[in-house]
Amino acid sequence: KEKKYDYLIVGAGLFGSVFAHEMTKRNKKCLVIDKRDHLGGNVYCEEKEGINVHKYGAHIFHTNDKRIWDYVNQFATFNNYVNSPVSLSKGKLYNLPFNMNTFYQLWGTKTPEEAKAVIDKQIEEYGSKSPKNLEEQALSLVGKDIYETLIKEYTEKQWGKKATELPAFIIKRLPVRYTYNNNYFNDKYQGIPEGGYNTIIEGLLEGVETKTGVDFFQDKEHLLSLADNIVYTGKIDEFYEYKYGQLEYRSLRFEHELHDMPNYQGNAVVNYNDSEYAFTRIIEHKHFEFGNQEKTIVTKEYPEQWDRSKEAYYPINNDQNQEIFRQYKKEAEKEDSVIFGGRLAEYRYYDMHQIIASSLNKVQEVLKLEANT
Ligand code: UDP
Repeated sequence: KEKKYDYLIVGAGLFGSVFAHEMTKRNKKCLVIDKRDHLGGNVYCEEKEGINVHKYGAHIFHTNDKRIWDYVNQFATFNNYVNSPVSLSKGKLYNLPFNMNTFYQLWGTKTPEEAKAVIDKQIEEYGSKSPKNLEEQALSLVGKDIYETLIKEYTEKQWGKKATELPAFIIKRLPVRYTYNNNYFNDKYQGIPEGGYNTIIEGLLEGVETKTGVDFFQDKEHLLSLADNIVYTGKIDEFYEYKYGQLEYRSLRFEHELHDMPNYQGNAVVNYNDSEYAFTRIIEHKHFEFGNQEKTIVTKEYPEQWDRSKEAYYPINNDQNQEIFRQYKKEAEKEDSVIFGGRLAEYRYYDMHQIIASSLNKVQEVLKLEANT
């Protein structure tokens, strides 16, 4: 074998870093490249004023899978942060996810029975038996009041589309519960890595050759000649030069602000439902780690129309885009030395724990194939 590397891994986010770690452990030679000037993809944190700033949006680790929890705990100690955002709507604050506190704030209902009676009536009036889009799904999960107070405007500003033009599954991410429990996630394990996410990335990529500031598409021929196999974690449509058309993404713009005060909003996450605010949420990073610094850093998150000059954060998985994606996927399945993985290459709304699982599964799949040849 003449090639220098077994794997060229394009993108140093979680999928690529986990893959590189597992293969390096098995004595495969890996080179990880990333077009940004740092490793870690979107989980990357930057320390400022002693605060780990989530540069590409808030990342809160949560999983139900003990195997994935143990996996990340090899690389960092997790604190006991529990995400409990509040949402501002028409001048009032509400607890999220939708729970007994929210119902009390909306209707003054005090018992699960009272709250359920209100919601069931609204579901009956407005819900649909087989919801075909996000609006119908929301109305059939929680009814009109919650939809109009806490979902519609946030969703339409987040995605830049009408809630009737968005896939239903997006809103099923949010729990609905009849207890006074403000935990945003249902998962058994949750927390923020002490020292920030960079600690995990450093652990994963220890002993792995990496190069930042390298754009795969600027030097494709040469890079491909270096390795027997490619792991590609970028946009799948870009890999195929958009030949079946361009997939749609949603972009974000982050405005970071330093404030000379110890506590700006009293919570890590405050959502802004109303359309009059161009941002969807304000993140106050120190609260992820219970920080006591004298200053604080907050980030306003502005959803933006995506174009090729911008970062693609969210795939927009509506029917039209799924149809385009299916064609790329078919093409990808025919490749025998290119592996596609992660949010952009699989065009999926993945959380961190799901990406790690998908990368570990891919490693197993590859090893099995290898053992059989
Ligand atoms: N959502 C909403 N109101 C909120 C928060 C979320 O309607 O206050 C909806 C919205 O459609 C959003 C989806 O729930 O896109 C998923 O939100 P989540 O916070 O899980 O998304 P992420 O943190 O990945 O942006």
